[in-house]
Amino acid sequence: MSFKDLGLLPELLKALKSKTYPSPTQVQRDLIPVALQGQDAWVTAPTGSGKTLAYALPLLEQWAHSISKNQPAGVSKLAYAKSIKTTQSLVLVPTRELAVQVSQLFMSLSAQWGHLCKITVVFGGVSINPQMMGLRGGTDILIATPGRLIDLLEHNALKLSAVQTLVLDEADKLLELGFQEELQSILRRLPSKRQNLFFSATRPQSMVALAQALLLDPLEIHIEGKTLQPAEILQRAIHTDMGKRTQLLKHLIKEENLKQVLVFVATQHSSEIVAAKLRVAGIAAEPFHGLLSQGKRQQVLADFKAQRVKVVLATDLAARGLDIEKLPAVINFDLPRSAVDYTHRIGRTGRAGEAGLAISFVTPESLSHWSLIEKRHSVKLERECIPGFEASSLVPEKENGNGGVKGKRPSKKDKLRQLAAAGMPLTQ
Ligand code: ADP
Ligand code: MG
Repeated sequence: MSFKDLGLLPELLKALKSKTYPSPTQVQRDLIPVALQGQDAWVTAPTGSGKTLAYALPLLEQWAHSISKNQPAGVSKLAYAKSIKTTQSLVLVPTRELAVQVSQLFMSLSAQWGHLCKITVVFGGVSINPQMMGLRGGTDILIATPGRLIDLLEHNALKLSAVQTLVLDEADKLLELGFQEELQSILRRLPSKRQNLFFSATRPQSMVALAQALLLDPLEIHIEGKTLQPAEILQRAIHTDMGKRTQLLKHLIKEENLKQVLVFVATQHSSEIVAAKLRVAGIAAEPFHGLLSQGKRQQVLADFKAQRVKVVLATDLAARGLDIEKLPAVINFDLPRSAVDYTHRIGRTGRAGEAGLAISFVTPESLSHWSLIEKRHSVKLERECIPGFEASSLVPEKENGNGGVKGKRPSKKDKLRQLAAAGMPLTQ
């Protein structure tokens, strides 16, 4: 099937030609005809399967149709398109970088119409004034992170009363507790009669009831293999010690000849520390986390995409949606908190049918957590040991009652067992 078979407008087909996409991906084939009919849809499809284009095309096509349909007699299309800018479509995404990425696709696809179709992107961390100015006279399609959108609504910079289609990209993230208040506040300002299109690579149970309450008779599209991962990602697990991970990382970058790698760490602090250590070793490495200025965040990402930076040490801020073309590898320096986060993190590689490598460092402290992640993904990876970086122990360290990880000192019971094993009397 070709894009032409999907019944898209010539302007969009022309825009697609310049992107040299051979044919629509499965999610695009399944969704586009339904979305064009105005039906709600709830799409779960793997990372890198082309979900953005799957909703961008119908949204733009709907915009073009609404202009043709409503254009009054005697008024030129240009004059009419300029006169009605009412935020017809709203796309919500969880992170600023994703907002920029999505808007870039919309802008390139709508270029065929000149400036007739106005695409606007708003996100936090930068001055609000230029965004308020940008919204003067309205917009056609708005891509936003929730917090900044609310700020703009409170400044009366726009209205959402004419929204016909709402897209939640990374819907499961946006429906999480952390975003719930903001999302509810936005939903209250939308017309109740609208089209809803939800997209994500993961569908945790916790989102199901909320999604069902928001969607009206949706078409459910579920595209997944046996596990949640696209087959193109080779997953590996390396057993090591906490204190050997930075050296192991350096070793792998060199020995595995990794051209570029996105490394996930647990905290902003580790992101800075490990990046600094790699830089000392002559490796172009940068931290990427929420405490950096937005300018710095965008710079790091741009440098990474342009391959001026070899290693980015990121928190989960970079786990969702980012499309770094041909990124060869992802490393979990610290394991993700959940199996869902694992899917999103490793999904930054192996996109659009490319091969990818995902390596997880597993330490005695994180071994039982790793087993849980494996179980949720129905995989059992061989635990590799790299000479010189072996773990001191191959058994999981039990966690103590405070949620912390037990230290290496033997407990009272361990001491008693050792004494018993050595034939000593068990006295206290
Ligand atoms: P997802 O949102 O499903 O994780 P994206 O929409 O970010 O994936 O797309 C992943 C990559 O696939 C992007 O680089 C995009 O340009 C590319 N892509 C999208 N559609 C196609 C297609 N039909 N053929 C080839 N590549 C595509
Ligand atoms: Mg996406």
